[in-house]
Amino acid sequence: ATMPPLLSAIANAGRHGLLVKSAVVMETFREVTLVAFDKTGTLTEGTPRVADVRPLPAGRLDENEVLRCAAAAERPSEHPLARAIAAAAHDRDLNLPHAQDFSSTPGRGVTATVEGRVVRVGSPALLTDPAVAAANKGSEDARDVVAELEASGRTAVVVVVDDVHVGVLGLADQLRPDARATVAALTALTGATPVLLTGDNHGAATRLAQEVGITDVRAGLLPADKVTHVKALQAAGHRVLLVGDGVNDAPAMAAANLGVAMGRHGSDLALETSDAVIVRDELAILPKIIDLSGRAHRVVK
Ligand code: ADP
Ligand code: MG
Repeated sequence: ATMPPLLSAIANAGRHGLLVKSAVVMETFREVTLVAFDKTGTLTEGTPRVADVRPLPAGRLDENEVLRCAAAAERPSEHPLARAIAAAAHDRDLNLPHAQDFSSTPGRGVTATVEGRVVRVGSPALLTDPAVAAANKGSEDARDVVAELEASGRTAVVVVVDDVHVGVLGLADQLRPDARATVAALTALTGATPVLLTGDNHGAATRLAQEVGITDVRAGLLPADKVTHVKALQAAGHRVLLVGDGVNDAPAMAAANLGVAMGRHGSDLALETSDAVIVRDELAILPKIIDLSGRAHRVVK
């Protein structure tokens, strides 16, 4: 007996490495008019490494001490940047103290108590965050170092201990090998160049966008901002497919016409919220599936 076309399309997608959660989802792929990508962990490998450790004078800590504080606070986090920071501490054989009262804010960073001190590790938004009460202690120097690192395409992560800016880390990430070809194929298929929606800084985002052939870059976004952008694109008449990996992408995935999660390193929430999962992290599957969905439809008709 032959399989119904949609079912066979789903089975086919599975063989290509895309887990499609329902027949409706399979059908919706062919209606997509615009693809929006998250950056970190989606267009990039999501295994960034710590390339720079810059202690700041106000903190009076050396490189290893800055890294040790940051890594201790980040240890419970599943964010790719957190894992990179923990890995860098491990590479330097640093002993990490236990963190307490850990909490994380998607798109921003983490807070924890380490050896009785409140450690915050996160985006340069920490420089202006009113919650970091004495944000002026060392923040001038921090601003300069952040600007310098971002200008060279790094993702800057700020380390604050008891309201003093003790250091800045520069993280470097690698483009996925099939990102550029995928963007080109999607542009040809949908007739629209994909959009980049990222929580990262504008410098790093623009640099990466140029490498992959994306011109529409929306950077510095919090999870709720990603939703706003998806809705605006829909209001402009687009049926949006959003590809992401993080907790920070889940709300936008839910708002999009289709949400696709990166399977390998994707957060549990992203996997749950998504309509389909790219099992082996190959972006090139996306244009294939959109094409496949269109064919299945023509057969059904
Ligand atoms: P993207 O949208 O590119 O996947 P995220 O929204 O996950 O990026 O993160 C946006 C920014 O928030 C990061 O570039 C970083 O500055 C900061 N950030 C988020 N989580 C963490 C964390 N656990 N540790 C340090 N910084 C973080
Ligand atoms: Mg991400």
